Amino acid sequence: MSLIYFYDATELDKEQLTNALRETDHHWEYVPDKIDISNLNPDTEVISIFVTSTVTREIIEALPRLRLISCRSTGFNNIDLAAAEEHGVTVTNVPTYGDATVAEYAFTLLLALVRKLPLVLRTENEQIGQSQLTGTDLQGKTFGVIGTGHIGQKSLKIANGFSMKTLAYDAFPRLELQDELHFKYAELDELVRSCDIISIHAPYLPSTRHIINRERLQSMKPGAILINTARGELVDTAALIEALDSGHLGGAAIDVVEGESLLSYHEEAALLRSSDIPADLLRHSVEISALQKMPNVIVSPHNAFNTIEAVQRINETAAKNIIDYWYGVTANKVSPPPKQFGKLLLARHAESEWNATGQWTGITDVHLSEKGFHESALFGQALKDLGLPVDIAYCSEQIRTRETLEGMLNASQQFDVDIVTNSALNERDYGEYTGKNKWEMKELLGEEAFNRIRRGWNEPIPGGETLKMVYERVVPFYKETILPLLLQGKNVLIVAHGNSIRALMKYLESISDEDIGGLEMLFGQIIIYDVTPEGLRADSSVTKIDTTPPNA
Ligand code: NAD
Repeated sequence: MSLIYFYDATELDKEQLTNALRETDHHWEYVPDKIDISNLNPDTEVISIFVTSTVTREIIEALPRLRLISCRSTGFNNIDLAAAEEHGVTVTNVPTYGDATVAEYAFTLLLALVRKLPLVLRTENEQIGQSQLTGTDLQGKTFGVIGTGHIGQKSLKIANGFSMKTLAYDAFPRLELQDELHFKYAELDELVRSCDIISIHAPYLPSTRHIINRERLQSMKPGAILINTARGELVDTAALIEALDSGHLGGAAIDVVEGESLLSYHEEAALLRSSDIPADLLRHSVEISALQKMPNVIVSPHNAFNTIEAVQRINETAAKNIIDYWYGVTANKVSPPPKQFGKLLLARHAESEWNATGQWTGITDVHLSEKGFHESALFGQALKDLGLPVDIAYCSEQIRTRETLEGMLNASQQFDVDIVTNSALNERDYGEYTGKNKWEMKELLGEEAFNRIRRGWNEPIPGGETLKMVYERVVPFYKETILPLLLQGKNVLIVAHGNSIRALMKYLESISDEDIGGLEMLFGQIIIYDVTPEGLRADSSVTKIDTTPPNA
């Protein structure tokens, strides 16, 4: 017999949970409110909560007898899993109560949006002309799913029923699904660029936070539509509002939004009573208010799960999880996401033809020298010796980084690695100094000015970029694109330039503006980083190759 507290309990929950536990000798209590440090009973052994509650470390530590947290939901991002594990508390979820329920709701939102249903339903009372109600068909449109789990798969099936074309992205694709459900997997950026409608069905993890970021929203097709029934944190809400406001996106339908508890009037009122409103909550509150006023946006209050059948399945499974636990069975136990992050490998491109002659190259396209090609192969050998398989590789738009990268991957016999070019990694633009010989410039400018230009933080070059400007493009790219991959456990190799790598290292190693002058990214090095969840250096090591010419 155990003492169970059910939080967030509705009348329907009470009825169904009481039925499910009737035959047991457990004792249970219902609390309609969400869990809070002020509404705990220290004797509680089991708590059961819905997504509206957040179980913090403080709550777990205030319940010394707590053994089990039974989530009445699929997602469990609202639990401090690390604290639960540390205190020997098991966490269970309801893995599959409503794949069809949520997928049907995603299409409910989509149809309401493309057929302008909220406006259509107001026509009787208001002067709204037929032309304002003109919608679009789904048939023939390309529907993209992010996350091909239970709900994503159902969504793809429904899209097939509407004769839509389908694409999907998953960090852990199951290729066999493609034939069965008639879709093709694509890389995330390709999916984002190609779809008319994107529906998100991935979990919220550190690696999926803002997976739909500003850059991806901008690369969506003009007029495209975003549907989110997964978790609000997967989308950068401020960037979404910008993309809608500028007219780039055609619309959005969201059942989940960052700070969604503020959709409740009670939460807003409680917030107003607090003396110190956190800045992020204030921002989310304004974002939600803006979204609710936009004519091409539908916001619903985390309601996708809410059918009588699904709620019944949730409560039956949550109760069964509790009953089973006391018999030693934990079929639906959830585990913290893997703590093993991927490695970040940084290399400066090998010697180019202009490096050989001492010219400032900047963004001019110059091939590798013969020595440079040889160095790339040595880099590849070093990579092979490291025994680190590369999952994805990035280079700048300058051909010398791509040639280095291809040489490395070939020599390390990693032929199937995707190479992605991104302008954020480009070399610093040297403006009017491009093509000038560095050593002649040193004579001309004097050593001090020359060193400031080469190594300084915010030193202007006529018509060119400062290192600060390079930093301002490299670091957002790193945080939004590279870091999520590292947090998913992928090893990422970046081949870039002296300055773009220095800018990145400044961030990784928290180097001050004053000290950046002392940082040099040498030719012939691969730096291997382990990163923290925030993307900063946790550890690093350096591998060097011999850069003396082959026949010297
Ligand atoms: P699931 O676990 O069956 O599927 C999730 C899929 O996402 C898996 O295929 C997984 O490989 C994939 N994934 C993991 N990391 C990824 C990444 N970085 N990028 C892309 N894909 C990734 O879960 P499900 O039952 O399909 O539910 C999906 C999400 O929907 C849940 O995590 C939950 O947050 C949300 N949900 C919302 C409601 C609601 O009422 N709005 C109801 C139920 C579930």
